[in-house]
Amino acid sequence: MKKFRDLSIRVKLIVLLGASAAMALSISAVISLSLTFLTQRAQSLRHLQQISDIASENLTAALAFNDSASAARLLGSLRANPNILAAVIFDDAGQEFSTYLSPAGESAALTAQLTNLAQKAKADRTELAGPRQGLESMNFDYMSAITPIRFDGRAIGSLTIVSDNRELKEKLAYFVVMQTLISIATLVIIFFISIRLQRVFTAPIFHIINVIRGISQTKNYSVSVDTIQNDEFKTLYLHFNDMIAEIRERDGQLSRLATTDALTGLANRRHAMEVMQTMVTRACRKSESFGLAMFDVDHFKRVNDQFGHPAGDVVLKEVASILAHTAREYDLVARVGGEEFLVLCDNSDLETTRRIAERMRLEVERAVIQGCGGHTLTVTVSAGVFASVPSTENTEALLNTVDAALYHAKNGGRNRVSIGEIT
Ligand code: GH3
Ligand code: MG
Ligand code: MG
Repeated sequence: MKKFRDLSIRVKLIVLLGASAAMALSISAVISLSLTFLTQRAQSLRHLQQISDIASENLTAALAFNDSASAARLLGSLRANPNILAAVIFDDAGQEFSTYLSPAGESAALTAQLTNLAQKAKADRTELAGPRQGLESMNFDYMSAITPIRFDGRAIGSLTIVSDNRELKEKLAYFVVMQTLISIATLVIIFFISIRLQRVFTAPIFHIINVIRGISQTKNYSVSVDTIQNDEFKTLYLHFNDMIAEIRERDGQLSRLATTDALTGLANRRHAMEVMQTMVTRACRKSESFGLAMFDVDHFKRVNDQFGHPAGDVVLKEVASILAHTAREYDLVARVGGEEFLVLCDNSDLETTRRIAERMRLEVERAVIQGCGGHTLTVTVSAGVFASVPSTENTEALLNTVDAALYHAKNGGRNRVSIGEIT
């Protein structure tokens, strides 16, 4: 069997509410039943005592004058009350003077009860001779009231009336049935309330669990959770959103770091290779032309040697910026080596790619670069370009082609664009 702590929150709530309600109902049922029993018992005994008091007064003369016929007649009038099973008059010697037995009272059990009562009447004689008004007793089936019969202030005998407990039992049974029905109805209501309650408590938890699951599957951190509730869940959601925003920012920083060249801010080699693979695959599938251009700064070593490494960095940044601004919106410019740049031209034929590369070369040539330790510099770049509808998804051959074209441009005198050929 499952342990309580292993149950879901939903079930825990239902179990807790159900158990508390059942406990509260049981305690209240036991208390009410006891109180009802005691009140009803007292009321029934008082009622029996009253009957006994009246009857004993009426019987005074019959017993005083030893008139057993009158006594029997008077006792017979108790027949009107169907709950009374027997009535016995004992004289002051404890001897039975007259007895009434109802038809229902002529049972063996009652005979034994009457024998007991006769002994009790004998035993109680002295007590009843005193000022005591009467004695009552009750067992599971019967209750009895013993009242002294007085003449001239002296007890000359006693009257014992035995009644069954049927009425009391019926009342208690009715009470138990009602209490059970009320308890069942209450438990049913509590069950439905607990379903509603568990939704209030668990829906926000399941919501956040789903969001977390979604994030772990898609790695998409651009989500947030919201609730109309204004309780601790609101606080939980706010903290969760803060945490996700922080992760989102770090994720952005990380992917920027992983894809960007720190000096120029362009895409780095790794990212360029990934994007190139995507572009070539798409071009291959759609039978579109894909163009690329490899740039290399001419005699860059001299810049470093003459003006220092920091000046070289300024030149690299400036060349990167010119290439990036001259490229089309959907081209990707990347720094793939020390002073080497790759331009990926999606959906571009050879002529377009060559024109883009030529425009870039010209812009670099024209640029007057400031901030190189008080000097102004100009540099040139050479480029190898190529474009075709790729026949395979392999990018290696394309890169080799533009490399060879670049080598060609360098050999051809630099500051020029050479067109590559697939060998
Ligand atoms: P060529 O026209 O044949 O390309 O001549 P080059 O001098 O440009 O060729 P080479 O490849 O010999 O020189 C490249 C130089 O670029 C060598 C290296 O010191 C320098 N370099 C590489 N990375 C950086 C960098 O991040 N900053 C600076 N300032 N220089 C760099
Ligand atoms: Mg180089
Ligand atoms: Mg160079």
